[in-house]
Amino acid sequence: MEQKQTINFGAGPAKLPQSVLLQAQKELINYSGIGISVLEMSHRSSDFNKILNTTENLLRELLNIPANYKVLFLQGGGSAQFSAVPFNLIGLKEDKCADYIVTGIWSSKAAKEAEKYGKINIVHPKQDSYTKIPDPSSWTLNPTASYVYYCCNETVHGVEYNFVPDTKGVVLVSDMSSNFLSRPVDVSKYGLIFAGAQKNVGCAGVTVVIVREDLLGHSLKECPIVLDYKVQAETNSLYNTPPCFSIYIMGLVLEWIKNNGATAAMEALNKQKSSLIYDIINASNGFYVCPVDMACQSRMNVPFRVGKKDGDEALEKKFLDGASKRGMISLKGHRSCGGIRASLYNAVTVDDARALAIYMKEFLKEHQ
Ligand code: PMP
Repeated sequence: MEQKQTINFGAGPAKLPQSVLLQAQKELINYSGIGISVLEMSHRSSDFNKILNTTENLLRELLNIPANYKVLFLQGGGSAQFSAVPFNLIGLKEDKCADYIVTGIWSSKAAKEAEKYGKINIVHPKQDSYTKIPDPSSWTLNPTASYVYYCCNETVHGVEYNFVPDTKGVVLVSDMSSNFLSRPVDVSKYGLIFAGAQKNVGCAGVTVVIVREDLLGHSLKECPIVLDYKVQAETNSLYNTPPCFSIYIMGLVLEWIKNNGATAAMEALNKQKSSLIYDIINASNGFYVCPVDMACQSRMNVPFRVGKKDGDEALEKKFLDGASKRGMISLKGHRSCGGIRASLYNAVTVDDARALAIYMKEFLKEHQ
């Protein structure tokens, strides 16, 4: 039974399962009877090694990660990976170029950062707004590119892929920061996947990188050593002090995911939760408007405007105030988009989503 009254729809850092918080609380001062906290533990101790290995093994099990992939636990967030990806992979081929599919702020930032290190080709015509995935038939992929990059779920805009881009054999790289472990993924289709933990799998501080072994060892000579995947792989993510506590929390969340039916169950729940919200939007006769193309509406982040297509800001403020009175927080849209955004990551329950859907219905009745 949930003890908290507040429902957190934040986009990240986001809600964690209550059982995870309770376990972390219980173990905080004296972890596993060893007399100290994980916060105080040497990252080279056998106790921390167990935590690191357990976390990695859970991840391997949940995603069925093939043996020829390395799993790294790094610092610097998704943003550090915007640099690490080109530093490590753009030199895979002589031309030092890479293809980017840009569907929102996060892939746009990644492409801009990569431009510092090589030739970046945006594969599709420029978009006026981030509300759809450009039709793959309009993509001009470069067969000599070192990799093709995309963001699987654009957290700000609520644009999510429900297909794996066909790169015609070129190495595929994906930022899965905001839909990681929210559904099954065939890792073998990717050269590299990265994800910050603070949305679906833990708290801020650790970013998971899953990388195919044969892609290691091609980094540019300027690559900072902490971002060099080969170095981090060879040292089991212990080249320097890793984010120990964040890795421990991730382990607890992965255990929770496993005990709750793994990725298939997460997918079913995430479908159910997001449908509760999209159904209200679709039946509202334009009172609520989600600008995203139906084919790529995100199950993780549902952005919408209230009152009219471009949003009635006074009404949106009223909506947020009313939500807050009911204990529903962090529903304000990203500053670049305005409006409302409900993030429905793994730890958000069907009851949480239902509470929002009920509120939306009532607000509609009152203000339409
Ligand atoms: N990629 C995506 C899809 C994100 O949502 C975010 C952060 N919200 C980032 C990258 C950047 O992550 P960080 O702030 O941890 O650097």
